[in-house]
Amino acid sequence: MYRKSFIKYYTDNNFLFDEAKSEVDFIIQMLFNFTSKDFILGRSLEQWQIDKIEKIIKERVNSRRPIQQIIGSAFFYGRRFFVNEYTLIPRPETEILVSEVLKIIEDINNPKILDIGTGTGCIPITLAIENKNINAHSVDISKEAIEMAEKNALLHNVYEKIKFIESDLFSKIKEKYNVIVSNPPYIPIKDKDSLQYEVKNYDPSLALFANDEEGIEYYQKIITNANKYIFDDGFLCFEIGQNQGKLVSDLLKDNGYRNIKIVKDLNSLDRVIVSQK
Ligand code: GLN
Repeated sequence: MYRKSFIKYYTDNNFLFDEAKSEVDFIIQMLFNFTSKDFILGRSLEQWQIDKIEKIIKERVNSRRPIQQIIGSAFFYGRRFFVNEYTLIPRPETEILVSEVLKIIEDINNPKILDIGTGTGCIPITLAIENKNINAHSVDISKEAIEMAEKNALLHNVYEKIKFIESDLFSKIKEKYNVIVSNPPYIPIKDKDSLQYEVKNYDPSLALFANDEEGIEYYQKIITNANKYIFDDGFLCFEIGQNQGKLVSDLLKDNGYRNIKIVKDLNSLDRVIVSQK
């Protein structure tokens, strides 16, 4: 049983058992579509597959580069997305944001969506797969991120539904939308040293950090400018950091938004905020 020896290699190198186990399963599934069920059913890997996995695990343990970047893919909402060093690795917390937007657009005919800071494109692509009626525009300041998001849209057959635009927030935007959604950079730059090694060294800084004390720079910029880009009664939805619920909700209120709702993540921390114009 090679799975155990892979896990041991991780734990011998100071990884926690649970992390090691889930990462080994992630690698085997990503690369060879093997799940723990396959092992239980007695399927086994071939030698070339074992060699390949070993090589990847060695690189992971030695460099501490996130496994998703080494393999070049991550899972989001149960689907594969290409990632690289220019795109934030999609996080499970962001799935909550997607679920909230899906609920909102259920009642809208042909909803038009704008995603700000699209990264891998995981948000609009998942929305377009889950709701066939949407039409989205997706912006990112990074040309490399836009290229990656386009690749992911092609992979998931929703390229026709989403227009990707290299734009600093609203700078290239001229239309109005039913929903504006964003998972902007929200970690205060002063907290950089407290981040996990992998995040600090390998996730793109451009995707992580806000330059103000409280990490609300991008919420401020988006909320104070969004009005002319949202149809009446349209929605503005964000992922937020665990300490930002009150700050962002006050910003929304001050700018005339109503029906503000904060949604918590699996750890009971504030994670998503939705509001209506
Ligand atoms: N929208 C992308 C995501 O949620 C990227 C977000 C970002 O780079 N801050 O994963």
